Amino acid sequence: MIQLKTYSNTELSKRHRRKLFLRKVTAAVFPERCPYCNKVITPALACCIDCFENFPEITYERMAFGGYPAVSPFAYIEPYDKAIKSFKFYDNLQSAPQFAEVMAEAVKKSYSHEDFDIITFVPLHPNRLRERGFNQSYILAKELSELLLIPCDELLIKTKDNPPQHKTEAKDRKKNVSGVYKAVSKDKLQNKRILLVDDIITSGHTLGECARVLVENGATRVCCVTFATAVVKTT
Ligand SMILES: [Zn+2]
Repeated sequence: MIQLKTYSNTELSKRHRRKLFLRKVTAAVFPERCPYCNKVITPALACCIDCFENFPEITYERMAFGGYPAVSPFAYIEPYDKAIKSFKFYDNLQSAPQFAEVMAEAVKKSYSHEDFDIITFVPLHPNRLRERGFNQSYILAKELSELLLIPCDELLIKTKDNPPQHKTEAKDRKKNVSGVYKAVSKDKLQNKRILLVDDIITSGHTLGECARVLVENGATRVCCVTFATAVVKTT
């Protein structure tokens, strides 16, 4: 088997924390910006007042494929779509704590009756992880873990480097993710109630497939949380 150079999640966490630390140190020279509209803000604030006041009053609740509940603080519309793209594709990792904070609020609101044992995340294939250098869902899961005081663990691996869902036609999305995830260990999953994290939910097939694998390997409950949800079906 070819040994790919990948970053372990512990390393990624360290890299992420280093970035956050450096960001604080250099805040005086490079002012903090609102992760949603990019306006300069005082370092004590997580985002600007205007964006904060415009946050939706509702949380978005829907089902991932297979009937697993999924909740998101935002719809995948401006400025939230740009914010998450900037985080994911332009390494704006300093937005992670603010994003996790609003996700944690959505979790508390929608899953108040749930009791989770573990937080986990949608994994990237090692090729994609090497390309990007980090897994955005892992970073969000790690931040959520600290806010919700629930341990975060890597429970799934992605074994097939399939085409991204957003580049796949709607009718092929279920097939595209089918069988691409595997459980890391059955032992870790027995009778566990799991909060599954991803950045965006679109068709719900990715989260549905991950949840299916978790349940098939022993989990008793899987609920999902994402930063944003696609409200209009994309084709
Ligand atoms: Zn703003």
